Amino acid sequence: RSIMALQETQSSVDGVPHVMFIPSAGMGHLLPFFRVIAALSYHGGVEVSVVTVLPTVSAAEADHFTELFAKFPGIRRVDFHLLPFDAAAEFPGHDPFLLRWEALRRSAHLLGPLITGVSAVITDVTLASHVIPICKDIHVPCHVLFVSCATMLSLVAYFPVHLDNNQKKKAATGGVGDVDIPGVRCIAQSWLPQPLLDLEKLFTKQLIDNGREITKADGFLVNTFDALEPVALAALRDGKVVPGFPPVYAIGPLKSHTSSTSNDNDDKPAAAGSPVACWLDEQPVKSVVYVAFGNRNAVTHEQIREIAAGLESSGCRFLWVLKTTTVDRDDAAELADVLGDGFLDRVQGRGLVTKAWVDQEALLKHPGVGLFLSHSGWNSVTAAAGVPLLAWPGGGDHRVNATVVVSGKSYNCLELLSIFLKGFANDCT
Ligand code: UDP
Ligand code: UDP
Repeated sequence: RSIMALQETQSSVDGVPHVMFIPSAGMGHLLPFFRVIAALSYHGGVEVSVVTVLPTVSAAEADHFTELFAKFPGIRRVDFHLLPFDAAAEFPGHDPFLLRWEALRRSAHLLGPLITGVSAVITDVTLASHVIPICKDIHVPCHVLFVSCATMLSLVAYFPVHLDNNQKKKAATGGVGDVDIPGVRCIAQSWLPQPLLDLEKLFTKQLIDNGREITKADGFLVNTFDALEPVALAALRDGKVVPGFPPVYAIGPLKSHTSSTSNDNDDKPAAAGSPVACWLDEQPVKSVVYVAFGNRNAVTHEQIREIAAGLESSGCRFLWVLKTTTVDRDDAAELADVLGDGFLDRVQGRGLVTKAWVDQEALLKHPGVGLFLSHSGWNSVTAAAGVPLLAWPGGGDHRVNATVVVSGKSYNCLELLSIFLKGFANDCT
């Protein structure tokens, strides 16, 4: 429907609308962009270009860009060169993906000439405060593809208002406090993304900046659906969260590019043939706990050992997709060293651990998988494919996402869940 509206209202000179995507960095942000870009390209009738910054931070990002452009040769790659930014000196020890967002923001004023003449821009929330004003200046509609849940969008939009209200009340005891999002829910301080408790943090400054500016976007595309987040979506659309909030389109759950480009039955595991899928083929139906905490290290090495101990004593079959570094290019560790002496031998046959990039969505559709232990990154949640999900939220938006997971909970895995949790209860604090 949005494409048709665009075709009617935003035709460029030759009659074909031109949509320019301006994504940011990190697989959790890029994957949803690639999915929408693939769906739009597959649909046709629209010229698509993608602002691309090379080299990417991680190898996974580079591989996925290459795959996208190979699969859709009609997409125009618009190379964007960042201004020099001595991130290490200015923000020592910061997350490299956050620094890439900062570098993009500082170079964003150079985007104007690239955007001029396109019919519409779709950008990431991390760049919103810089890209929206440029689009306004040259009268190009700007939508935000929001990669997390609608509840998180309501928090991002309301957080600056909450801080302003605190300021007005001159909240003496200080602290950010619980955030009571009008019409949505009250998010306890301990369930907020924890960097938000420190207003001096780069992440927090960016999020507040973006949160203030997003009310000027022309609309939001969110990877969610009405049945999953009816309350948050209604509150955003009714202007309860922030009066006059732009239109919000629930376009999820987004499909991987493989399923959006083929007529395959969605239930068919597309990872068939990979070594991990072959191992899964040998396991009884719904017997395996799939353990994954996103595309980079979400837990400490000490926690990895604890999780290993829990998996071992649970007696369950498991497939653990383990990331041990923030950036995949830095990962030189041997699994045996990370997991501790003898672990892999002791679980051989019933447990498989891999550090490789896997096609998670396809694997989750495998009949052998019975439970998903996840950090509750939003892309993981929305692709759980009906597999019961046990949320173990960590940083970022994970706790907010977990509140959404709980609101749509399923109890059809009690047996596997109880055996599994017993292993953890015995061995983990
Ligand atoms: N992913 C994958 N294979 C991997 C690691 C990650 O397919 O080996 C995908 C996963 O399916 C999800 C995304 O990477 O779509 C990670 O995004 P999410 O929001 O779940 O977590 P984040 O990594 O951003 O914390
Ligand atoms: N976010 C935002 N504005 C910003 C930065 C982040 O709205 O300027 C939101 C966005 O929803 C993102 C979430 O905060 O998904 C968590 O950030 P991040 O991607 O770092 O989390 P992670 O990769 O750990 O899931």
